[in-house]
Amino acid sequence: MTEIRSVGVIGAGQMGNGIAHVAALAGLSVALLDVKAEALEKALATVARNMDRQVAKGGLSGADKDAALGRIRTGTEMSLFSDCDIVIEAATEKEELKLSLFRSVCPVLKPAAILASNTSSIPITRLAAATDRPERVIGMHFMNPVPVMKLVEIIRGIATSDETFEAVAALAATLGKTTAVAQDYPAFIVNRILVPMINEAVQALQEGVGDVRSIDAAMRLGANHPMGPLQLGDFIGLDTCLAIMRVLHEGMGDSKYRPSPLLVKYVEAGWLGRKAGRGFYDYSQDPPKPTR
Ligand code: NAD
Repeated sequence: MTEIRSVGVIGAGQMGNGIAHVAALAGLSVALLDVKAEALEKALATVARNMDRQVAKGGLSGADKDAALGRIRTGTEMSLFSDCDIVIEAATEKEELKLSLFRSVCPVLKPAAILASNTSSIPITRLAAATDRPERVIGMHFMNPVPVMKLVEIIRGIATSDETFEAVAALAATLGKTTAVAQDYPAFIVNRILVPMINEAVQALQEGVGDVRSIDAAMRLGANHPMGPLQLGDFIGLDTCLAIMRVLHEGMGDSKYRPSPLLVKYVEAGWLGRKAGRGFYDYSQDPPKPTR
């Protein structure tokens, strides 16, 4: 079985920096790439801050933190990945972008390297078909925030080999994660169930069934969810939620997955949630203030 010692990550946003964080802490060598140099700087600062929090809680020594940070290299060119055993793509949730990244990374990879996507919803089989190694392509869907959340959903494309599956399952265990195996249907397991609930909350908000505060309190206290659905949508990113609803709507061909028009409007306004400073809550205020 391919043993994974060196991990490449494409995209240094919320998910990419989290994947780099857990891989570096597990003793793996990490190469982190983004198109934007500022995103790389921000990602390294975020990883350092999050590790500081672990040090403060006593779960990590200062020396181990420094060693882990020293294992992360960054860059903007695909050649960064030439010695990686696996590259995990965690760029923006747009199919055309991911297909183009998958095409352009292959020529620099070692022949045995695995290519994984952290996509929330795009078919792994379709991404695999854009590469020279469909048997080595797999979905590795981390949850946000990666250092905290225990699950990795592993999605096998139609061509994914058993060897690739086993190497990735072993990697997830090395990273301290529990796995759930999903088949390659739109949005897999977690988002197939979670994101339509968030979309329904936005639709209820649009119809005036309740305001932001009431809808979130209802689900937090009435269904025992740790976060209300609108707060969770802001946390995930409303652009990502909308992209997932579109994949479900198109992939299942069922009107029950229609994106809420209010969700579309928030995304068109650039109100993408916490990462943009505004979504269903305004994060310039403390505590964040509902926007409806
Ligand atoms: P994000 O917007 O925080 O980060 C995306 C990053 O990709 C940005 O830094 C952007 O500059 C970079 N990028 C864009 N084009 C690129 C390119 N051509 N080459 C390299 N980098 C590029 O988004 P995110 O929340 O980190 O989501 C990333 C992926 O992870 C998406 O596929 C998303 O569906 C998935 N995901 C997100 C969550 C979540 O809760 N946010 C959970 C699981 C999976």
